[in-house]
Amino acid sequence: MEVIRFEKISKVYREGDTTFTALNNVNMSVNAGEFAAVIGPSGSGKSTFLSIAGALLKPSNGNIYINGVNLVNLKQKELSKIRLEQIGFILQTSNLIPYLTVFNQLLVVRKMLGRVSNEDKQFAKQLLEEVGLGDKLNKYPEELSGGERQRTAIARAFMNDPNIILADEPTASLDSQRAFEIVELISNGVKKRNKAAIMVTHDERMLKYCDKVYRMSDGHLELVEEREVVFS
Ligand code: ADP
Repeated sequence: MEVIRFEKISKVYREGDTTFTALNNVNMSVNAGEFAAVIGPSGSGKSTFLSIAGALLKPSNGNIYINGVNLVNLKQKELSKIRLEQIGFILQTSNLIPYLTVFNQLLVVRKMLGRVSNEDKQFAKQLLEEVGLGDKLNKYPEELSGGERQRTAIARAFMNDPNIILADEPTASLDSQRAFEIVELISNGVKKRNKAAIMVTHDERMLKYCDKVYRMSDGHLELVEEREVVFS
């Protein structure tokens, strides 16, 4: 089932009299349970692409659909709701809140949707156990390693049960052993919970976890590989 679709997406940045085409007629669609990677050099348009996927930036042209709803027609308030309910973000640095424990990092995103139930608490524990943090629920970010912080961010991304997981260079600040573990955890979560996921990465070693690999160059996106996925 198709969850997110880019249809002829272009993004033109304007600065004074000059314009710059960061995305040029980009098409892509990601199904539930599919983990797609986007690779490409710095400046090729990857962040712009992910910002549009995350309903953080509007395209200049084209349509972007999440579960059949065209984001282009939505107001800011409706876009925030989509971000909160339908998208889980995993960023380069974990972006944890310094004064919240690991457990509360997850509950706080739930709270933004309303009351936190006992079921939510159980789900948060389960997610944290799945990423190997079952014994760190009461730790604060400063008491964690970089890898543990990123695992917390992964669990948090799944907390609101979104349809889409977006990861922006999630291994950028990690050594290679941790980097493999982190991408494997994202991949396992995506498969187990049937999410549509897009990861932007520089690190081609991480592509073995992805079903499809796209390359961005000068604002053009092309599918370069469909892979057999490695399950662990
Ligand atoms: P990447 O993530 O692959 O490094 P970006 O999407 O950040 O690429 O940028 C693509 C191009 O668009 C770059 O040349 C960049 O300078 C330009 N760009 C990005 N954001 C803006 C902006 N807000 N205003 C003007 N140009 C921008």
